[in-house]
Amino acid sequence: MPTVIRNTRLFNRQPDAPAVDLTVDDGRIAAITPSNPGTDATASGTDVIDADGYVVMPSLGDVHAHLDSNRLGQTFRPHTAGSSLHSLIMNDRANWRNGERSAYDQAVYAASLIAASGATRIRTHAQIDSDCRLERFDALMAAKDTLAGIVDMEIVAFPQAGLLRDADAPAFVAKGLEAGADLIGGLDPTTYDRDPKTHLDMVFGWAEKYGIGIDIHLHERGTVGVFTLEEIIARTEAAGMQGKVTVSHCFVLGSVDEREQRRLAEMLAANQIAVTTVAPAGTVLPLKLLAETGVRVGLGEDGQRDYWSPYGDGDVLRRVWQLAFTNGFRADADIEHCLDVASRGGRHIVEQIPHVPSGDMSSDAEAGLAVGAPADLLLVKADTVTAAIMDCPDERLVFKSGRLIARNGKLTG
Ligand SMILES: [Zn+2]
Repeated sequence: MPTVIRNTRLFNRQPDAPAVDLTVDDGRIAAITPSNPGTDATASGTDVIDADGYVVMPSLGDVHAHLDSNRLGQTFRPHTAGSSLHSLIMNDRANWRNGERSAYDQAVYAASLIAASGATRIRTHAQIDSDCRLERFDALMAAKDTLAGIVDMEIVAFPQAGLLRDADAPAFVAKGLEAGADLIGGLDPTTYDRDPKTHLDMVFGWAEKYGIGIDIHLHERGTVGVFTLEEIIARTEAAGMQGKVTVSHCFVLGSVDEREQRRLAEMLAANQIAVTTVAPAGTVLPLKLLAETGVRVGLGEDGQRDYWSPYGDGDVLRRVWQLAFTNGFRADADIEHCLDVASRGGRHIVEQIPHVPSGDMSSDAEAGLAVGAPADLLLVKADTVTAAIMDCPDERLVFKSGRLIARNGKLTG
């Protein structure tokens, strides 16, 4: 049965934008008409949900998550790690079993919070190493099943402790891939494993063997970061994996001059390699350049309130605020672009749509808000899109495939 979402405003920049009614049917936007307050549920044979003038936008995605590494909703735990990457990894290893919930319960809890904030897709890394083996991976696979229909979840088999430094990890990673991981991950091949050739040969070899995509963490900066990124690009081209590779963080793009940024962005675009950011302080990706050169960019939240960092609360809209803030944006169009990264950008990455989203929301029937687009929607009580991002109000409605799945920060089912 169709649903009419009555009295909503379409990704508006002006507070006095006219309201429309959205008819959603079969998981998609079926009609957009001027708002008719007289729409009668009984007479029209439809469900009618009054949106009270809320702003509507495409639902968001958290496309860089670690659902097996968070303590959301648990007693706050003071930070105990040192500052190096290795210290952070080992601090997690020493403590992750001390959570107040099982890995599965915690993953379902965190994913539910994320979905209720407005994100209907999550790409989560599942740590696989010689310590946890497949324990965390199995927990995420089960959570994915539990939340099917509410959130589309992808799981990356992620060798957090390296593939060479943790010599027993590859055997367990291979088991995760056999068990149905959606993607294969990797981590700083040059600075952490100190052998980029072997590391990347393994990652790309698995991707080819299992016919899956790659999502590789790259914290490396400067000359080393450029070297590793060029290696990833070369292998993507050689393997014909255009459209299937994501570089997470890609700090190198924020650590080189503008000319080098452009050269790298053009190489990424030529091979349809996507980038995800978690909007960190200090290393800002050149969002406008990436959009202009045709590089898909998505937003994630990383680990949250975990053994790595006390930051993060499960609210993806608040992370959109952080993306705008860390970029120093003030103009509405720039702030709306951050929402676009979190919504259409993430969708294009997860669905391996090889080009950047194009056109404004109201004319995009692929991932935006035009008739024919998926009815994966976030509605927020706010004057405009930018106001929604600035205020991050609790009053929200989230639709997945045309079905109301969350209201005011809580799942409905
Ligand atoms: Zn990560």
